[in-house]
Formats: sequence, C-alpha cells, structure tokens
Amino acid sequence: ILDLKHIRQNPGLYQQNCFDRNYPAAANNSWRILELHNQLLERQKETLELRRRNNDVGKSIQRQAGMGDDAQGGDAGGTSALLEEARKLKEELRGFEEWEGGVVEEMMGLAMEVPNLSSGVTPVGDEAEVIGWMNGEEPPIVATGGGRSHVDIGKELDILDFEASATTSGWGWYFLKNEGAMLEQALIQFALHEAMARGWKVMTPPSLVYEHIASACGFMPRDQNGETQRYEIAGEPGKPNLVLAGTAEIPFAGSQANKTLKASELPLKVIGPSRCYRAEAGARGVDTKGLYRVHEFTKVEMFAWTGPSATSSHDEQSRFGSDEENESQTDTVFKEMLSLQTHILTELGLHAKVLEMPTMDLGAAAARKVDIEAFFPSRTSINNGYGELTSASICTDYQSRRLATRLKYEGKGAGKLGFPHTLNGTALAVPRVLACVLENGWDGKEGVVNVPECLKKWMPGKITTIGP
Ligand code: AMP
Repeated sequence: ILDLKHIRQNPGLYQQNCFDRNYPAAANNSWRILELHNQLLERQKETLELRRRNNDVGKSIQRQAGMGDDAQGGDAGGTSALLEEARKLKEELRGFEEWEGGVVEEMMGLAMEVPNLSSGVTPVGDEAEVIGWMNGEEPPIVATGGGRSHVDIGKELDILDFEASATTSGWGWYFLKNEGAMLEQALIQFALHEAMARGWKVMTPPSLVYEHIASACGFMPRDQNGETQRYEIAGEPGKPNLVLAGTAEIPFAGSQANKTLKASELPLKVIGPSRCYRAEAGARGVDTKGLYRVHEFTKVEMFAWTGPSATSSHDEQSRFGSDEENESQTDTVFKEMLSLQTHILTELGLHAKVLEMPTMDLGAAAARKVDIEAFFPSRTSINNGYGELTSASICTDYQSRRLATRLKYEGKGAGKLGFPHTLNGTALAVPRVLACVLENGWDGKEGVVNVPECLKKWMPGKITTIGP
C-alpha cells in the first residue's frame, strides 16, 4: 500500500505531511508502522531459529521411523521426546503466525489512513495560488438588479424543478426539464467531442463499485472531517458491500486493479460520462438551493495512467520526475487535462480563474491539484462569486499501490516492476456548468438565455419559455 522503505527512511516527513493536509488523526501512523515493522523483523529473526529447529526435529523423527525403533531395540523414548518437541515448536510457530497476521493487518489499516505526499509546487496551508485566468482577469459587471440565480431562471423558463424531486427524493435532488435536459446532453456531447479530438478514448463506467475499490482510491466512508461521503448498498450474500461511485475516477482506477500495465501502453487516457453520487453530509451548508451542490449529477471525467521513469528514485517516481528539459509523462498528461478544461470553459464564454490548490485542499489521494473557479453572477456574496467548476489531480502512485496496479518497464530498466501514476480531471461537471451558463447567459430584458456558440450544434437557438 505504501512504500515501506521510504516510510522507514522518512517517518517525520509523513507525519508533517499529515499536519499540512489536515489529517492529524493519521499523523503518528508512520511512526507506529515503523515500530510494528521493527517488531516484525525482530520476531521474524527469532522464528528463523525455531523453523530451523522444527526442520531438524522433523528429519530426526523421519529418520527414526525409517530405522524402526522397536525392530532395532531402539530408543522409543527418544522418539516420543522428539514428537513432544515438534508439537511445542508447531504451537510456538502457529502463535507467531497469528501474531504476525495481526501486526500486518494493523500496519495495513494504518497505511490506508495515510494521505499521499504533497507535491513540491503545492502551497502549504489553506491559501490557493492564482496561476491563470480565462476570458479576462476581471469578472463581468453585474447590472443592478441583475445577478439572477439559476434557480429563478430555471423556474421561469420551466427547465428546472426542485419541488418534484423534493417529493421523490428529498432536497439536494432535481429534475432537468425541456431545454434544461437538452442543455445537459449538449454539454456532455461538447465535452466528449473536444476530448476525442485530442485523443482521449471514451469509456462509460458502472455506477456501483465494491467498497474496497472506493477506499483504495481514497474515498473512505468518511472524509477527513468525519462527514459521511458515500452512499453504500448491502452486497449480495457472501459479496462485499457496494458503494455508489462519487466520481468515475473510482471505477476507472479500479478497472486496472491487480493488473500489470506495460510501459509501452502508457499513457493510457480515458474519458467518460457518469452519474456521480455524493452524500455531502454537512457540506451543503450555504448551497442548500439549486444545482450548485447536489447528491446526484452527471460528470464527464478524464482519467489517465502514466509511467514514471524506471531509473528515478522513489521521490521522483512517486512525486515528480521532471525538470525543465525533461518533462515527465505525468506532467505532460496533466497539462493536457488542464488545457482541455480551460478550452471547454473558454469556449463556453465563462470567466474563470485557475488555482494551484493548497495542501489542506488536496484530500487523501492527490499529490497536486489544480481547480478552476468560474464566476456565478448570483453568488457575489460568496467568494466574490467564484465557484469551483473543475478539478485536476496528480495522484502519483498512491492509488496504483492501493489497487495493486503494476507497471512493467521495457527498454531501460526492462523487467523491473513499479507502479504507474494515476491522474484525474473534470472535463465537465454538468449541474454547476449548467447553472453557470444559465446565469451568465441570462438576458433579463429579453427573458431568454443565450446558448454559447459551441453548443449550437446540439442545441440551436436561445432558451426561452416553451411556447406553442
Ligand atoms: P471532484 O470530483 O470532487 O473533484 O469534483 C469535480 C467537480 O464536480 C467539481 O469541480 C464540481 O464542478 C463538481 N461537483 C463536485 N461535487 C458536486 C456536487 N455535490 N454537486 C454538483 N457538482 C459537484
């Protein structure tokens, strides 16, 4: 799950990393893992002697049985002493194996709670760093009386319905109607076509995944604040429980669990639309209305496996192996993800900023995360109107180690086994983008929403009240 050798060499680094990422409960795990590993090595050494003696005793018993004690007037008492010793040795060894099993299980449990190490470019703390802008550095001016919320616009145009979903499912769910439903399809098509044109392969994943697959990807039953983040479904008898995937990243990453990828197959890049399910317990806070934070939504997601170099050190392999002249595959694909994200949002005409996310916002799996926040005219009282639309993360070898996805090197370092890097990025998260498009495209005077040019292929015209 974790690189034990690296933990042994740097237990303090893992501890500090937990504090930097707001995972204080796991801060001592590296030290405890080290302590347990030392005990394990110590006792393994002791049991070597026991095993040797056990072998010798076994051989002596066989030898005596072969000679036939009685026939030769031999030493029946000697054999029974040996048998007694063999029984005691077996018992001692069984006791050790039980203890060893418990220790390994504890080490695994502790390792599962340890977050990934943060990248060198990630700001430490809770302040994101602005690294770029889209459609200007200033948000559009919101006219007095403007800044209408997508909830009101959606109601007026009869394209969103939150009341019907409150009846069927509760708050935090929604119906998309008429042109609202068509806008969702247009956004999905636009994102998929742009990605396919750039070489991403389309794949639609299952919505349900085994709970251990979700945990291996870093989606534990509760987040670091102790809030429930998963919807779980009891499995069939004898099978593990299932989890409704919060993002396609989970089934995509899980699709290569227990497999070995060849270096020549990488980078492997997939994109797909999926329904995402989030319990969001406690997180809805100010976002109780509308599409901003909901329990179920469609997201087009990018996912990739890349190969670190066979000859680089652990630090380079699990973190970043590139310098100015020699960009790693991981960094190249990460740039491709960011480029697609900025292209999509620029084409949609949305004003947004690109943020290098700080350690406190990385969650469990990411080593590096870049978010894009766009301007919502109705939300100027929250974060000056900026709300997150996309996120892209480099997870280095964190997920592949936990999922046992191996990498076989070819050429330089041929035959060597390692772990690929995984990366994920939002191509388009429908409800938030839809809300943003409605609010930014709303023409109050005309009472219509202007559809961005790039969507016209799938959705001609303006969104207006459905007339006769
Ligand atoms: P994440 O997979 O958490 O990085 O989220 C990716 C994107 O999905 C975010 O940037 C949002 O645009 C969107 N998103 C995340 N959570 C929700 C939610 N509960 N409701 C609506 N959209 C969401």
